[in-house]
Amino acid sequence: MTSTDAAAVAALKRDNAQYLWHPMAHPQAMQKAKPDIIARGEGCWIWDVDGHRMLDGVGGLWAANLGHSNKAVRDAIVAQLDELPFYNVFRGTTHPRAIELSKRIVQTMEPDGVTAVFFSNGGSDAVEGALKLARQYWKLKGQADRHKFIALRQGYHGVHFGGMSVNGNLNFRRAYEPLLPGCFHVDTPWLYRNPYTQDLEELGEICATLLEREILFQGPDTVAAFIAEPIQGAGGVIVPPPNYWPRVREICDKYGVLLIADEVVTGFGRGGAMFGTRLWNVKADLWCLAKGISSGYVPLGATAIGAKVAEAFMDDPTGQAAVGHGYTYSAHPVAAAAALATLDQIEALDVPGNAARVGAHFQARARPFAERFSFVGDVRGMGLMLGIEMVADKATRATLPRGNPVAAKVAQAAYRRGLMVRISGPNLILSPPLVITREEVDFMVDALEGAFAEVE
Ligand code: PLP
Repeated sequence: MTSTDAAAVAALKRDNAQYLWHPMAHPQAMQKAKPDIIARGEGCWIWDVDGHRMLDGVGGLWAANLGHSNKAVRDAIVAQLDELPFYNVFRGTTHPRAIELSKRIVQTMEPDGVTAVFFSNGGSDAVEGALKLARQYWKLKGQADRHKFIALRQGYHGVHFGGMSVNGNLNFRRAYEPLLPGCFHVDTPWLYRNPYTQDLEELGEICATLLEREILFQGPDTVAAFIAEPIQGAGGVIVPPPNYWPRVREICDKYGVLLIADEVVTGFGRGGAMFGTRLWNVKADLWCLAKGISSGYVPLGATAIGAKVAEAFMDDPTGQAAVGHGYTYSAHPVAAAAALATLDQIEALDVPGNAARVGAHFQARARPFAERFSFVGDVRGMGLMLGIEMVADKATRATLPRGNPVAAKVAQAAYRRGLMVRISGPNLILSPPLVITREEVDFMVDALEGAFAEVE
């Protein structure tokens, strides 16, 4: 590095602390925390401005599923910029990529019962679209009282007012209350931390019953939808028992409640199947999609619409079925081109299959950490998503104090070993690109093991 480079890097670091407010961070914290400035990416690897090379255990943020240098996606983006960088899809106009992508998503999700799709700019938008379509659905059905939403504790559904109101984590809610009225939460089937049982199947049944009891308590004719992630991501990678989602679907059907699957993380292969709902053999009524849809190369969100919901809009006798929702950048041509190329690549590279195969190796290698290290309470995950929960006391499962000093030390030790990890509360979360190889997984686990051993 030349002295000019060093000066430019120092200026970037200084300007970051001075001008850039980061999501989920105190503005002043950045002056002390000195976030890593990522300058370049290739495959599953990233380099920071200091030239330090790391395996991207974060996948950008559960997003860069094809790695950082997929040429087909890059070429599609460039070609689209040459052809038509932007046009809108409000009622008077549309464009070829929007049409092609909508058809492609519907065809891909045909086995799930999807018949149409509504585009937006990211995961929070996709959630907002689903919540609004669910409410409108019930108005069209003549049941305007069905306006409530039920969600899971620990769930994460983005940051807009609707999504925030169904979020199950106080940290994302508190500063912005009062939130949307009519949003209620029930317990997540979380084996490691629940007051009910350590039997997985029994837990699935109990938590499904809690949902049913809440629907009955609220009055089924007031509940619009239940929203949940097929595997909770940001909440700490909480994998539900296999019987949970099928029971949830039964209960939603019994009381006519719509089921919204927030697949922003699990969509497009991360859990080892193309969609998280497929892992549980369940069809939702609305799906929230983002991140992996375009491999994160260009922001894009989508709300996939199942036949039942779509039909209510198509058959509307009231004339009130116009979707009064949308964004200037809905189905942005560059994002749509990126998504079309991403979907081609997902198929060509069998990305969900790789996540299942390499993911099984990843899970098997990481699980023993729970026995091996004194501060690792639980290791859980599926496919290429892994959460490692750190505790103050393994025997009592006592939580670490806020700020999690242990995880910060592990993250620094991992960095020195060439691995980027993410800390979220007490959890260390790994969500590498889905094209990762078995050898790269071994590198990742070895680096993590070394980091844990150093901190132990
Ligand atoms: N839903 C889930 C399950 C997510 O994990 C996220 C983001 O991580 C969102 C919604 C919000 O997506 P975005 O950050 O793109 O708005």
